Amino acid sequence: MTPFDHEIVIVGAGVAGIGAAIEFQRRGLTDFVILERADEVGGTWRDNVYPGLTVDIPTLIYSYSYAQKPDWSSLWAPQAELLDYCRDTVETHDLRPRLRFGCEVLEAWFEAEAGGWRVRLADGTELSCRFLVNASGYLSTPKWPDLPGLAAFRGTRLHSAQWPEGLDLAGRRVAFIGTGATGIQLAPKLAGVADRLHVFQRTPIWLLPKPAMRLPRALQRTFRRLPWTQRLARLLVSGFMDLVVFRRFTFYRQVAWLGWIAEWACRRHLSGQVEDPGLRDRLTPRFAWGCKRPSFSSDYFPIFNRPDVELVDDPIERLTPDGIVTSDGTVREVDAVICATGFQAFEKSALPTYPVRGRDGEDLADYWDRGRYQAFRGFAVHGYPNFFLMFGPYSVSSSSYFGMVETTARSIARCLLEARRRDAGTVEVDARSQAQEFARILRAKERSIWAGSACRGSNTYYLDRFGDTPGFRPSSHPREWLASRFAPMKHFRFQPIPAPHPRVEQPAESG
Ligand code: NAP
Repeated sequence: MTPFDHEIVIVGAGVAGIGAAIEFQRRGLTDFVILERADEVGGTWRDNVYPGLTVDIPTLIYSYSYAQKPDWSSLWAPQAELLDYCRDTVETHDLRPRLRFGCEVLEAWFEAEAGGWRVRLADGTELSCRFLVNASGYLSTPKWPDLPGLAAFRGTRLHSAQWPEGLDLAGRRVAFIGTGATGIQLAPKLAGVADRLHVFQRTPIWLLPKPAMRLPRALQRTFRRLPWTQRLARLLVSGFMDLVVFRRFTFYRQVAWLGWIAEWACRRHLSGQVEDPGLRDRLTPRFAWGCKRPSFSSDYFPIFNRPDVELVDDPIERLTPDGIVTSDGTVREVDAVICATGFQAFEKSALPTYPVRGRDGEDLADYWDRGRYQAFRGFAVHGYPNFFLMFGPYSVSSSSYFGMVETTARSIARCLLEARRRDAGTVEVDARSQAQEFARILRAKERSIWAGSACRGSNTYYLDRFGDTPGFRPSSHPREWLASRFAPMKHFRFQPIPAPHPRVEQPAESG
């Protein structure tokens, strides 16, 4: 009988939280609750509803391996379909009773005497648990541009991650800031709707084509009848993506030619889509492909051929109540400012989205601020016993997000089961193991694309304020898959359950 409200609390009901819950359930770790601040599951696929949002990683690898969906409508499934997929997975695995919506976690702290965690919620209540698993996402806190005058702008001002239902920009003059993975999806949906669209580009982006690819019915039927064909397709796509995308990150020098091929393909794509050579030049990055997240679009570049769309690459100086002023002194009066300016990825206090105080009372955000981002195998941090991260620093090792959710959840479940087997109260990664792994990661970075001058001027969010790349794990999916099953437990310290304090009865007050 556990003295806690729950053995496990999972924070966040996005893809990672759902995946963790399913893994725990399958392993017999059934005493858990999932806390979700919103009123529905789905995380990023619930919050981001801007027009044009589709996944830009082939859907064949964008699903749980144990919940294959043979009838994806497209190789790039739209947001609504992905949200439905999350909901369906929750139903199929009977997770609804475990979900508590409208539960925003404000802080969590480790109680050494109890050997567990207390979690304070926004409604003032508290919960206790033996194990705390954070799945609050690392791209969940929108990042607004730090531009003078933005708050005083009088027109519509919104971030792509907070798109209001039914927003109509027809006939309005729109300033569009940001040309990352979101910007290239959203801007084409506004071109031709807005009276005038000014796209403010700070850094150009390498773009590979993304042709519309509906999954043919015959293929869907084959996947349904012969599920192994879908598994095979998944394996091939995932292997190819990892080879092209990830090998280049981790073994940049050895496979530099892969990047040259990608750059050549991007240039060809651009020249096939944009007529004006001057414009093409302004849209061409001056840094190597792969410094920023590889992006794909077949409808972004053509918008710049339109007379009602303008590419602005003079830096933004400030906003006025009615418009935007660039460094060359030009004032563009606009009715709306749309910021597709991304998320606070590895920025202080964005991961997790609430303070987490470990054994010594130090907030994890402060610990990382002092000692740089680090987490053993991306999921455990020394000094934070019984606390685990779905997607902590150095956890992303593959292009298959779902694949990583599965390996991370399995690794965490193994720790929890090992604690149970040893009758231990706490499990904590050993300081030396964490330090050794961090040193190995830093050495590996020297072989990566970010080590030399190739990424100068890319402004990539992959590099944090320390010049580290916590968004990447120099590993591979097969390696992480094996580690999640067979890695030795010697890196973790298991401590006995603290003896309960004898209850001191208060003498009854006399008189
Ligand atoms: P992002 O990649 O961080 O891009 C933000 C954009 O805003 C960049 O172009 C950035 O310019 C620009 N920006 C930021 N502050 C600015 C300022 N003060 N002035 C001018 N420009 C400014 O964000 P994102 O496009 O939202 O993508 C974030 C991540 O979300 C992606 O990497 C991806 O992992 C995920 N995502 C996935 C999908 C999908 O289909 N699966 C779709 C969208 C997003 P700089 O380049 O100069 O910094």
